[in-house]
Amino acid sequence: MKHNIKGFEEPVYITRPLLPNLDQVNKKIKKIWTSKWLTNNGKQHQCLENRLQDFLKVTNLSLFNNGTIALLIACRALELSGEVITTPFSFPATTHVLEWNNITPVFCDVDEQTMNINVDKIEDLITEKTTAILPVHVFGVPCDVERIQKIADDYNLKVIYDAAHAFGVEINNQGIGEFGDASMMSFHATKMYHTLEGGSLSCSDPELKEKFDLMKNFGIKNEEQIVMPGINGKMNEIQAAIGLIVLEHLEDERNKRKLLINTYKKCLRGVKGVYFTEEIKGVKSNYQYFVIRIDEKEFGRSRDYVYEKFKEFNVFTRKYFHPLISNYSFYSQLSSAKKSKLPVANNIVKKVLSMPLYGELNVDDINKICDILKSFKR
Ligand SMILES: *Cc1c(COP(=O)(O)O)cnc(C)c1O
Repeated sequence: MKHNIKGFEEPVYITRPLLPNLDQVNKKIKKIWTSKWLTNNGKQHQCLENRLQDFLKVTNLSLFNNGTIALLIACRALELSGEVITTPFSFPATTHVLEWNNITPVFCDVDEQTMNINVDKIEDLITEKTTAILPVHVFGVPCDVERIQKIADDYNLKVIYDAAHAFGVEINNQGIGEFGDASMMSFHATKMYHTLEGGSLSCSDPELKEKFDLMKNFGIKNEEQIVMPGINGKMNEIQAAIGLIVLEHLEDERNKRKLLINTYKKCLRGVKGVYFTEEIKGVKSNYQYFVIRIDEKEFGRSRDYVYEKFKEFNVFTRKYFHPLISNYSFYSQLSSAKKSKLPVANNIVKKVLSMPLYGELNVDDINKICDILKSFKR
């Protein structure tokens, strides 16, 4: 009976951080205490850098205190200037790092299916001032990396990926962090893989990695030489230690989330007005997010109605990504930010809803969330 569904006793949030056993954490911290080395490329840091390089299948990797500083440094290290083409459908940091580098963001509309930058629309936005493309692998779904590279090669542009959502994603067995000139990943506590706060840049060019490492440490080459105006972007030993432990639990978390996503899909497939992205052939997914889109006409209720109504059942979804970056008051004056130029992005931003997903949930929880959702339908 659809009227009789009871809400959850305890609140169900969109995500919960992966929290490894505290004794395991304490053991590692004790080691750090004994070493008296808390930051600046210590043992944990070196170890994590190597591990992640292998795990992510990338040739070079640098760790950072967070993903935003990493992206800021990538733009700086690749000497971007003028205009950079990016997507308005992302987390604020993607565009903010351009602004912090005195670069004008140029918004490109997104693809209806993948919600990633629409590659067909990029070339029309290129001007004499364009120096790069900054796409995002939204919710871990890969951009069309080959076509983006082709455009970049044709116009002599750099490509930096915001791969904050794409930890562990592979395209035909290649690490996603290996594409473009550089890729940023975020290890924030809300991400499936985390170091409390943290991030990385990966790249195929070893000289670029050296530049990243100098830039994140004030440009200090040695005790005698400061070679560039750097900043402080270093990851500390506790962060790195947490990262090493969380990495051990990642495969398990990924499998749990895979099962939950498949449960969501089974339950919601065929519900009119509820859409989700299917898996893509050749792509190894990280199963980090489950995002639906609600078509108000077909479902009979708006996304905002569903979002509010879920709260009555103790279910807290999120409108990721809402609002659209191009509609923030301080970006909306840009000529590329006009709503008429970004029709798809402005449409999907009203439909998307990120659903609860973390390993501690079970299949019954997901079935119940789906039943609650279906009971809203008119
Ligand atoms: C989380 C996130 C960031 C920022 O990463 P931090 O590590 O929190 O600084 C950037 N871009 C996207 C798409 C994100 O989801």
